Amino acid sequence: MHATSRMSAPSLELKAGRERSLRRRHPWVFSGAIEKVRGSPKSGDTVELRASDGKFLAWAAYSPASQIRARVWSFDEDRPPGADLLAERIGAALALRRAAIPLRATNAMRLIHGESDGVPGLVADFYAGVLVVQVLSAGCERWRDALVEILREKSGCSAIYERSDTEARELEGLKPRSGLLSGSMADGPVRIVENGIEYEVDVVAGQKTGFYLDQRDNRARVQRLADGREALNCFCYTGGFALAAISGGARSVLSIDGSGPALECAQRNLALNRMDADRARWLEADVFDALRKLRSDGGQFDLIVLDPPKFAPTPKDAERAARGYKDINLNALRLLRRGGLLATFSCSGGISRELFQKIVAGAAADAGASLVLRERLDAAPDHPVLMEFPEGEYLKGLLLERR
Ligand code: SAH
Repeated sequence: MHATSRMSAPSLELKAGRERSLRRRHPWVFSGAIEKVRGSPKSGDTVELRASDGKFLAWAAYSPASQIRARVWSFDEDRPPGADLLAERIGAALALRRAAIPLRATNAMRLIHGESDGVPGLVADFYAGVLVVQVLSAGCERWRDALVEILREKSGCSAIYERSDTEARELEGLKPRSGLLSGSMADGPVRIVENGIEYEVDVVAGQKTGFYLDQRDNRARVQRLADGREALNCFCYTGGFALAAISGGARSVLSIDGSGPALECAQRNLALNRMDADRARWLEADVFDALRKLRSDGGQFDLIVLDPPKFAPTPKDAERAARGYKDINLNALRLLRRGGLLATFSCSGGISRELFQKIVAGAAADAGASLVLRERLDAAPDHPVLMEFPEGEYLKGLLLERR
């Protein structure tokens, strides 16, 4: 079998020295690392990766349109990609979630987190029986039917809905696509429970796959810390941190987002949980402007959450993004009372944890605020991080207390 696949598989020969990252099991090959393409692989085809001395390195998916020209399926010469390998990867991913996430905490979680689960370019989020998938790489596009079938079998879902309508697909030369792939879904949003709070999730029209699951544990932290505080929740989306704070005893929460539909959903979520509407205020605005306005109005808070969208998708956007993070952190700190808490996040792949901490420290210095670092925050464990793929660690946060 190997002899045949060997003879028929096209291959990419890498430039001398460019095999180093693959030897450390990093799963990406950039276009500049490739010396020669042998055969005529098409988008999504399986190729062999070979070092300049001809030695086998890995099986990968070819993506001629992308700067990430190949993504590794397997470093084992005896395991080329196929339904078996994919089923094994998905099985392992589900086992990890079962072990790491107590079911009483939630019925919504990320089941597949791309490269970090050995399925480069696939995201699968489970929302109370409805599985929402994003197929973001040429390789996963090629194996899409097999992946959907395996997910249907193993996840126990009643429906699979595709939300491959993101810009990431363009980089792979793929068209956006969304729609029901399997099973059936009731009309209207799905309802999930997280940390004892119910949320509507609009898997069809919501942002990303419908909900920001990566912040689950950080919302639980805010829930524990909110008692008696006046809170400000910036970039609130459908109210995750706001409802967490209110259920944790916050006296009031002002939430800001630029999206009208997200704010409407947030208010439905508040009602769904029979929470006191008087304790929540909602503002549709640009956070950059709103923070300045709050300052000129003399606003003061003792718990602030900053959970902005990705300002820097890649390291080359880091400088511009850094200015954005500095701005919102500086202006938020000017609103934070002594003894107050700031939970501040970056989900930018292009901003490292160290850089983010430096930016926030710079903002604190400019605000004349002394901050105690109470905790470093991460994504929840259904967003695992592989040591060999540090890009998977995109979400970083700091919990800070103003002295
Ligand atoms: N904290 C949320 C997730 C935030 S996602 C949760 O726990 O669910 C980022 C949010 O920022 C999105 O809802 C998006 O609509 C909003 N957003 C993006 N840019 C903005 C801006 N400049 N001003 C206000 N909101 C913005």
